[in-house]
Amino acid sequence: MTRTLILFQVFFITSCLTAADRPNVLFIMSDDHTTQAFGCYGSRLAELNPTPVLDKFASEGMVFDNAFATNSICTPSRACVLTGQYNHVNGVHDLGGRIEKGRQYLALEFGKAGYQTAMIGKWHLKEEPAAFDFYSVLPGQGKYFDPVFRTQGDKKWPNNTIEFKGMHSTDAITDQTLKWFKEERDQKKPFFLMHHYKAPHDFFEYAPRYEEYLQSTEIPEPESLWSQPKFGSIATLGANGELKPHIGTSIGRRNPRRNYVKHYELSDGFDDEAAKREAYNIYLKHYLRCVKGVDDNLGRLFAYLEESGQMDNTVIIYTGDQGFMLGEHDYMDKRWMYEESQHMPFLIRHPKSIKAGTRSDAIVENVDYGPTMLAFAGIETPEYMQGKSFKQICETGQEPKDWKQAAYYRYWMHMAHHDNPGHLGIRTKKHKLIYYYGCDYEGENQTPPGWELYDLEDDPKEVVNQYDNPKYKQTVEELKIQLAELRKQVKDDGTDYPKAEKIVQEFWDYDEEDRFKAVEISHKHRTKMNSAGN
Ligand code: CA
Repeated sequence: MTRTLILFQVFFITSCLTAADRPNVLFIMSDDHTTQAFGCYGSRLAELNPTPVLDKFASEGMVFDNAFATNSICTPSRACVLTGQYNHVNGVHDLGGRIEKGRQYLALEFGKAGYQTAMIGKWHLKEEPAAFDFYSVLPGQGKYFDPVFRTQGDKKWPNNTIEFKGMHSTDAITDQTLKWFKEERDQKKPFFLMHHYKAPHDFFEYAPRYEEYLQSTEIPEPESLWSQPKFGSIATLGANGELKPHIGTSIGRRNPRRNYVKHYELSDGFDDEAAKREAYNIYLKHYLRCVKGVDDNLGRLFAYLEESGQMDNTVIIYTGDQGFMLGEHDYMDKRWMYEESQHMPFLIRHPKSIKAGTRSDAIVENVDYGPTMLAFAGIETPEYMQGKSFKQICETGQEPKDWKQAAYYRYWMHMAHHDNPGHLGIRTKKHKLIYYYGCDYEGENQTPPGWELYDLEDDPKEVVNQYDNPKYKQTVEELKIQLAELRKQVKDDGTDYPKAEKIVQEFWDYDEEDRFKAVEISHKHRTKMNSAGN
C-alpha cells in the first residue's frame, strides 16, 4: 500500500469519527471540593454521607486515588486544565494570572475538531472566554447570592450581564447549563462543556434550605487538629516552634492574624480548646452544606442527561480545582503540598469505554486532564501541551509502561493570604518530599528554608517528618535527584524568577551552614512579626 493511500485511510477513519461517533465531553469542576468531603474517598467524613449523587456516579465509572494539583490554588489550577501546561510555562503562577483567547487551548482544540463548546460558571481567568461558542461566567470569584454572570450579547466584554435575583449560585449555574442544553445545543455536533461551580469556596454561604443539614451532628475531627508532635519542620514551625503563630492560618487561636475562632467571633467565654472545637464544627458544617448543594444540583443535571438520552454517550468528569484543608494539621484553606490540599478528586464515567466500579492509583496531574479529554474525542495531544492523556488507564485500568511515577508541585504565593511559605516538591506513590525554600518571586521576605519527608505508606496522614531520620537518608538523596530531574523535565528551570531560584539552589543540600542560616532567618521573621503586632 502506498503512503498516500495509508494517509488517506487514516484521514478517512479520523474524519468518520467527527460526527455522531465522537462522545460528548462534560467537565464538571467545583471550587475547593476536597476528597475528605466525599463518600467514595472513604475519609473520616464519609460516614456523614456528604455526596450520595457523586458516590453513585463514581460507582458507575472510575475513581482516581492519586490525582494531583500541580499548584494548589484556584486560578493556576484552572490554567493548568485549560492549557495542559504547568504554571511556570503558562505564566499563571498566582491569582493575578490570565489566559487570553489565543491560549484557551481546550476550547480551541475541541472547536477545531467540530465540537460545540461552552463554559458555564466560575471561570476566574480574567479575560473573555472568547474561544468558547457560548459562555456565561461569574466575574472573578462571583457572588453566592443574587449572582451576576457575564455572557455574550450586544455590548463589549464584560458589559453583557445577567443577574439571578433571589438565587444561590449553585442553583443558578445548573439552571444555565440546563437552559444551554435545551436552547443552545446544536444537535449536529458533539459538545464540550465546562460546568464549574463556585461552591464550596469560602466563605461557604450555603442555600437557606440546608440550614438544618448536620445541625445537631458532631463533625468527626482529624487527630492532627489536636496533636502532631512529629509534624513539620523549621520551615513550618520556626526554630523551636517560634513561628507556630505565623505560618499557616488556623482553626483555633494559634495564628492570631487569621483563624476561624476570630472569623466566627467566638472569642468570649470559650477557652482555647472549646473555641477551636466550636470553630471547627461551624467551619465544617458551612462547608459541607455547600457541598450538599453541589451534590443535589448534580442530581438534577444527571437526571436531565438521563432523560434526554445523553448520559451514556458523554464522557463525564467530576473534579475540584484542588483539595482543601478541613482542619488537618490545624490548617484551613489549600495552597499546601500536604495531601488534603494537593490531592484532587477525580471521577470519570463513560460506560461505553470505562468499566463501572473501578479505581486507579496511577499518578495523574491536572495538566493531564486536557490531553485526556481530547483523546476521548479522538484528538491527539498538541505539541505545546505538557500533560499526557491517561485515557488508556481509564479504559484498561493499567498504566502504560512509561507512565509517570511522580507528581511535581510548586506553590509560588509566598506568605500571601494564608501565610504559606513558597515551596516545591515531589510526590511518588510511596513518599512526599517538600522543600520550603521560603521566599517571594524576588527572593525577599524570607521565611526559614527547610525540608520535610513523609512516608506515605507508614504515615498516610503525614504527621511524622522523616527528613532527619537516618533510616531515610538514602531515600532523601534519591528523591532530591529525582526532584531535580523532574524540575528539568517539566521546565521549571528557574529562569523566570532568578532571584528566587538562587535561594532554591542555596538551601538545596541543606548542610550545617544552611541549617544555621535557617535558624537566623526564623529569629528575624519572628522579630518582624512581633514588631508588626501579630
Ligand atoms: Ca479553588
